[in-house]
Amino acid sequence: MTVSTTSDLAKLIIQSSRVVIFTGAGISTESGIPDFRSPGGVWSKMKPIQFQDFVDDPKMREESWRRKFEGRDGMANAQPNKGHLAVAELVNRGKVSHVITQNVDNLHQNSGVPDDKVIELHGNATYAKCLNCNRAYEFAPLELAFQKQGEVPDCEHCGSMIKTATISFGQPMPEREMLLAQQATIACDLFIAIGSSLLVYPAASFPLKAKQNGAKLVILNREPTELDAYAELVIHGEIGPVLSQTIAQCLDQGLDQA
Ligand code: NAD
Ligand code: ZN
Repeated sequence: MTVSTTSDLAKLIIQSSRVVIFTGAGISTESGIPDFRSPGGVWSKMKPIQFQDFVDDPKMREESWRRKFEGRDGMANAQPNKGHLAVAELVNRGKVSHVITQNVDNLHQNSGVPDDKVIELHGNATYAKCLNCNRAYEFAPLELAFQKQGEVPDCEHCGSMIKTATISFGQPMPEREMLLAQQATIACDLFIAIGSSLLVYPAASFPLKAKQNGAKLVILNREPTELDAYAELVIHGEIGPVLSQTIAQCLDQGLDQA
């Protein structure tokens, strides 16, 4: 990372009037939550459970809840890091219309981004919900029941199955969030993809959609991505340091007056 790169990013941010920030697991590794594909990432330790297996197979369901209650996703005590705080700063200064995230850790909201500005494409792992009526459930009582009976009870409202409120592999994408993300992407003039390998579709289609609609595309990731060739600016660096420096540059270049 050089000062000139972050200064270029700061310039693009200041020149833009409606920025969309798109984040993947990479923005949360500095908070201690492993990503999927880096060495030591989640996939090198445990295979993801497919949605249909969760629904069909009580053993897989049990395994899924055990992983959750043993805290194996690393999310239980995670706090926002410098990257999340920099994003929140840009949102709260009015530069960013939305944060579209593939993450399920709630750290954008915890860092001060208002709920209505965060579009969660893959749901949220900090609570559970009924697969039929969407009633939300806290984990604590579910965990107690799991410890006593070896399974989580069904929805008290409609009797259907309860699952962590994330979108698992094989589970349909949430329609409302997909629509909101499309609208935000089409309306932006700068799209910044941060900490995503840009391999998971349909989420990874948004950067290209932004580009096709005339927005400038910036990619910030430790390693190259499939979409680097389409970007106005590519920064291969660590997210926290790069974004902190970028915010400082934005302030130097007059973000306050923008
Ligand atoms: P990914 O694991 O495919 O890619 C993460 C990328 O971030 C990698 O290319 C890696 O090189 C980069 N990276 C990691 N730490 C970085 C750092 N400090 N600075 C710069 N780059 C860094 O993640 P993805 O594309 O988001 O897709 C995986 C899926 O897994 C997502 O759909 C998401 O739902 C889910 N997931 C979420 C979390 C979370 O909520 N924190 C964690 C793991 C996986
Ligand atoms: Zn229900």
